Amino acid sequence: MRSALVIGGAGFLGSHIVDQLLKNGGYNVTVFDIQDPSDDARFDGVTYMKGSIVDATSIENVMKEIQPLVVLHTASPVHGLPDKIYYDVNEKGTQNVISACQAAGVKKLIYTSSTGVVWTGADFNGVNENSVAFPSKGYDAYHHTKALGERLILAAEGRGGMQTAILRPCGMTGERDKQLIWRMVEVYEKRQHTIQIGDNTNLVDYAYAGNIALAHVLAAEKLISQPEELGDDGKARITTIPRFVGL
Ligand code: NAD
Repeated sequence: MRSALVIGGAGFLGSHIVDQLLKNGGYNVTVFDIQDPSDDARFDGVTYMKGSIVDATSIENVMKEIQPLVVLHTASPVHGLPDKIYYDVNEKGTQNVISACQAAGVKKLIYTSSTGVVWTGADFNGVNENSVAFPSKGYDAYHHTKALGERLILAAEGRGGMQTAILRPCGMTGERDKQLIWRMVEVYEKRQHTIQIGDNTNLVDYAYAGNIALAHVLAAEKLISQPEELGDDGKARITTIPRFVGL
């Protein structure tokens, strides 16, 4: 059976990815996370391992033990914490994940990024993944380090035959959401919804977490079905997988 390692799989999106891997992919799934899943995020047949990607040895040991066919790295601290934790997890932790894959010979790696990696605080209209470059400094430490994580994944692409995909979800909601809906309810309860900022023409994208999770599984399927094409330089070359999938 094909095996998948979901890093951050006890979280909101991660648990949807686990669900979709079981339903649509028929994978043998292992989760690596600093926290245990809540009861409603725990799935039968899944192995849950506790640890942090900031600990290089820990993630390398897990990678060597599991030898997953594909790794889905969706771990990140939530928005709004002190800056240091984002550099630790999103930059150093992502590098540790890449190094662990390389040490264990794992070749397929999917990284959950964010649409916010190119955000500077100004409006965007009609742009796509290819038309907006990373700003030199992201909007805040969360967004800046999500972009640093992307850069590390891009640099790892093709190295030792590694095949990667990056997905940039927008804001999301769905079962087990602990970040979005309660805030909207709070706004309603405080009657702040009667206050309008701007001219009411701004648009913001939100998506169902189950759909974003399915996109991760489809990206995994694509990476797995893609043969390693070795270029003249001996490095793997990917021709048909979009480097970024914006949602
Ligand atoms: P979440 O907090 O529910 O899930 C993240 C998981 O990562 C948690 O279970 C957490 O324990 C785990 N984690 C954090 N640090 C870790 C570490 N050092 N080692 C191992 N595991 C660790 O958050 P989420 O909303 O499900 O976000 C998942 C991913 O999606 C993140 O990469 C986030 O940046 C991205 N994202 C989320 C949104 C959104 O609206 N929620 C939007 C765009 C992108």
